Amino acid sequence: MAALCTVRHRWKRLKCLPIFTRNLTGRYDYDLVVIGGGSGGLACSKEAAQLGQKVAVLDYVEPSAKGTKWGLGGTCVNVGCIPKKLMHQAALLGTAVKDAKKYGWQMPETLRHDWAVMAEAVQNHVRSLNWGHRVQLQDKKVKYLNLKGSLLDEHTVRGLSKAGKETVLTAKNIVIATGGRPKYPTQIPGAVEHGITSDDVFWLKQSPGKTLVVGASYVALECAGFLTGIGLDTTVMVRSVALRGFDRQMAGLVTDYMEAYGTRFVWGSVPQRVDRLPSGPLQVTWNDSETGREHKDTFDSVLWAVGRAPETKTLGLDKLGVQLNQETGKIVVGPDESTSVPNVYAFGDIGEGRPELTPTAIKAGKLLAHRLAGQSTDLMNYDNVATTVFTPLEYGCVGLSEEEAERRRGKDGIEVGSVILIPPWSGALNNGIFFS
Ligand code: FAD
Ligand code: NDP
Repeated sequence: MAALCTVRHRWKRLKCLPIFTRNLTGRYDYDLVVIGGGSGGLACSKEAAQLGQKVAVLDYVEPSAKGTKWGLGGTCVNVGCIPKKLMHQAALLGTAVKDAKKYGWQMPETLRHDWAVMAEAVQNHVRSLNWGHRVQLQDKKVKYLNLKGSLLDEHTVRGLSKAGKETVLTAKNIVIATGGRPKYPTQIPGAVEHGITSDDVFWLKQSPGKTLVVGASYVALECAGFLTGIGLDTTVMVRSVALRGFDRQMAGLVTDYMEAYGTRFVWGSVPQRVDRLPSGPLQVTWNDSETGREHKDTFDSVLWAVGRAPETKTLGLDKLGVQLNQETGKIVVGPDESTSVPNVYAFGDIGEGRPELTPTAIKAGKLLAHRLAGQSTDLMNYDNVATTVFTPLEYGCVGLSEEEAERRRGKDGIEVGSVILIPPWSGALNNGIFFS
């Protein structure tokens, strides 16, 4: 048996022990082990437990490059949807309060926003959700392990604690739902040393002050929107277009609205370097892509929102032969979330070609749990997923953009109609910005 272990596993012989047990009894420690306790992983593990499966979920947060860390629940709860939406709400309230004067509310002449008060409230709310998730796992009899997981084979997971203590678990099925983390443009001098990302901004104790947001997709525009809304001098640096992949006309409405709302845009540029000036602020140097002219400006914070990278590197997937998309680093998955290795499944942000959205991760996780428990064969339908970009103008869409419809059907194969709907009460007494 020891020889069998040595053949099957190139790593330490000690770790063969659970497999030894399994081979003797034909049983595993768990029916299902989930690596990653975010939107998808938690939904999948709780659903599986409710269907009578014996389930463990491993969740572990590597601190950001700036040292920010958080609790159970993954990106959405800690550094995504939830704190983002709360800060967006803080910004909308500011606008409403300003408008309120015209409706008769007596307000002081100058309104001031206190970042520290907002941040404390947001962070306390997030901590309450972290706690809530732990309680739910306990109630549903899911074993929660604060361990960093990797795969030893298609039935064995190795968990490592912060202190380096190892735990080995075996399972009939293993699900990977480890999500992603923000990227840094490491080739730009000073980017990592002086910059922050969405993993940090929601956990800052003090206001980021005058901020340069680099990037022009969901994360960049949403962060720039709430930073502007709470009164901070905010600039977005756009490399090419804003909201790539979205309907161009609608993307234009969003950025026009943001500009009118006070966000500055620098188009067609990327930072060349970021330096800390002796007097304190950060100096950002960039070249205008059209004229090639060099520009410099100073900021208190530089927030990189240049996309997200999947968390696959430390999972031991190469040894096991789990196929990755070489370009994106994401796990190649089938319609049933299966990977190239039997008994190993992956979904959520880590899955190649999947929308990076919480509701799809939750739904896909629940459906996977049902299939793994043998309760259903239903697959997730990833078509026509609705999404919203929460800038001051909340833009929601579903289906194809006009450009994509035209690409598929040809210009003569589609009909485009548009209608501007303005709620009668909005803008009646305030200085609302409308498009017609
Ligand atoms: P995650 O939620 O990222 O969870 C993965 C978990 O696995 C994390 O806790 C991670 O620490 C852990 N982990 C990683 N590696 C290991 C390991 N080796 N061992 C153990 N644990 C590990 N989506 C929306 O639908 N609506 C929104 O409004 C929205 N807003 C967003 C705003 C921001 C700023 C960001 C960044 C994202 C937003 N998203 C939003 C996207 C949404 O957060 C993600 O799509 C969703 O969280 C993905 O869920 P997941 O389960 O795939 O991964
Ligand atoms: P995206 O990958 O969608 O966008 C990256 C942005 O950064 C693009 O504008 C890109 O520009 C730009 N960029 C990339 N590299 C550089 C560089 N080196 N220098 C300058 N700019 C650069 O990433 P996000 O992080 O914004 O969003 C990730 C996903 O998270 C989204 O797809 C979404 O699914 C999810 N999300 C959902 C939200 C919601 O539902 N409301 C909110 C936030 C995130 P270019 O176009 O030129 O490549």
